[in-house]
Amino acid sequence: MRTAATSATSDRPVRVGSVPIGSGRAVLIAGPCAVEPDYVETAQMVAALGVDVLRGSAFKPRTRPDSFQGMGRAGLELIAEARVRTGIPVVTEVLAVEDVPLVAAVADCLQIGSRNMQNFRLLVAAGESGLPVLLKRGFSATYDEWLAAAAYIEQTGNRQIILCERGIRTFEPRTRNTLDLSAVPVMRELTDLPIIVDPSHAAGTAAWVPPLASAALAVGADGLMIEAHPRPRESWCDPDQALSLEELKPVVRWVRATARPTSVAG
Ligand code: PEP
Ligand code: MN
Repeated sequence: MRTAATSATSDRPVRVGSVPIGSGRAVLIAGPCAVEPDYVETAQMVAALGVDVLRGSAFKPRTRPDSFQGMGRAGLELIAEARVRTGIPVVTEVLAVEDVPLVAAVADCLQIGSRNMQNFRLLVAAGESGLPVLLKRGFSATYDEWLAAAAYIEQTGNRQIILCERGIRTFEPRTRNTLDLSAVPVMRELTDLPIIVDPSHAAGTAAWVPPLASAALAVGADGLMIEAHPRPRESWCDPDQALSLEELKPVVRWVRATARPTSVAG
């Protein structure tokens, strides 16, 4: 079955800055969960490892209102500087329709987080920005609901959409979410959109991230999104799941070595 989001006209690969996603070579998106005051230095260290795209959000969707909500506009300024200093593109989350122009002015790709996958007005506004959109799967969303969310973006004429599996809610509490790697081969059948995997928000624990990252590459993901921090324990957001930069190094190597066979490219 093919939905509106999966028409033969969908553009592959999707370009984030100059980085093609869905080209046959896996890509690595990495960086801290949130933009922190030393984001520019962190970004330079992460980029020096050979990461393709930086991550880091200035606007954070937190479960509790007393958790750090992100640096906001000040964080966007640091993202702008990190982009210039590193020369690599940045993906960052947008939480609200009214913030789309601000965030789009500094980002190379807008992230729609799991909690906002069905925020339909936000999907449309992100699509209308003309930037690529990284659409995370809602933690209780079916594949068809995820594709329908992508269709909202595609309806704006923007087909630069990257799907991201980040784990779903199940009965198992030891992992933060349950990584549904079936999403990769199944979505390959249902859509031409590239699909990447975020093992960080699935595992919730740094030690479990590398094996899940390796598994995601084995099932043919177009890339990975991984949280990393120079001092994970001090991370202002999601410290338990952040890889140290030392721990990120082998992941960079595996990603570099992964050229997805064109026979599974869909
Ligand atoms: C994130 O990528 O920082 C994030 C909040 O992820 P998710 O929306 O998947 O929970
Ligand atoms: Mn996070």
